[in-house]
Amino acid sequence: MLKELARAKINLTLDIKGLRTDGYHEVSMIMQTIDFADELELKKISGGVSLKMDATQIIGGELIPTDERNLAWRAALEFQKFCGKSLGVSISLTKRIPAAAGLAGGSADAAAVIRGMNRLYETNLTEDELCRIGEGVGSDVPFCIIGGTCLAEGRGERLTRLNPIKKFSVVLAKPRGEISTAWAYKTYDEAPATIHPPNEKIIKQLASGEYDAAFKNFSNVLEGVALKKIPAITDYKAKMFAAGAKVVLMSGSGPTIFALTDAEHVKQIAESVADAQIFVTKIF
Ligand code: ATP
Repeated sequence: MLKELARAKINLTLDIKGLRTDGYHEVSMIMQTIDFADELELKKISGGVSLKMDATQIIGGELIPTDERNLAWRAALEFQKFCGKSLGVSISLTKRIPAAAGLAGGSADAAAVIRGMNRLYETNLTEDELCRIGEGVGSDVPFCIIGGTCLAEGRGERLTRLNPIKKFSVVLAKPRGEISTAWAYKTYDEAPATIHPPNEKIIKQLASGEYDAAFKNFSNVLEGVALKKIPAITDYKAKMFAAGAKVVLMSGSGPTIFALTDAEHVKQIAESVADAQIFVTKIF
């Protein structure tokens, strides 16, 4: 038996460059792993996949499928297919990351299964091979396999590792409601954004430790879309900023908002949006 943590991500920026001929969107996003995770236990079994999930700690957890539609299960099938052997696995998953919240909880679980099965069966696949398996499950899975700070381009699977950023505290505020990623991208196409994050400039600013300048440039082109469904986001952002956050932004397709801050402001920021679900963590 072995344990794996499936850490969530936040988007320091999210830009959409256009729609591709294959139907996917061309993106450019600066992704960051945070120290907030689902927990997995993997065991060898004689064949196939089995999944036991405890999602009682998250609101709406009963809506996450526990069969082959679960991304952890799909990842195990993709791993077996790649290796051309049965490599049976029993997965026990404890969910802590809210679903459909912009934190890539499902992709993180898939990545943890792929990393975990490589250890469990000592298959010694390279990181590139693990990412290729992950790509078959979802565009964010390769990033969740690698983790850290990365520029993600293409569908999100083309990764460039960036220097780690300072270990800021992170306050996550999840307003009531979910946003489906598919809906967010479809709605975006009807009215694309006019302001885009200058990712190359931000990468240079982060690398040279000019955090305040970089934070001013952070943006997520899907924020306008999410506001149509969850207008409270504007109010949350204003409150968290007023409570001392260095930067406040929506992650992924939302609706979770994150604030980066020094440890001394965490309590005040968390209390400023007491009606949201709050999680306090840090940059990993
Ligand atoms: P992203 O940031 O990549 O847009 P997200 O955080 O919005 O992702 P997820 O939490 O990955 O979204 O879940 C999206 C959908 O996938 C949910 O509606 C859920 O039912 C389904 N799903 C399948 N497997 C899982 C899993 N292991 N954990 C969470 N959701 C899962």
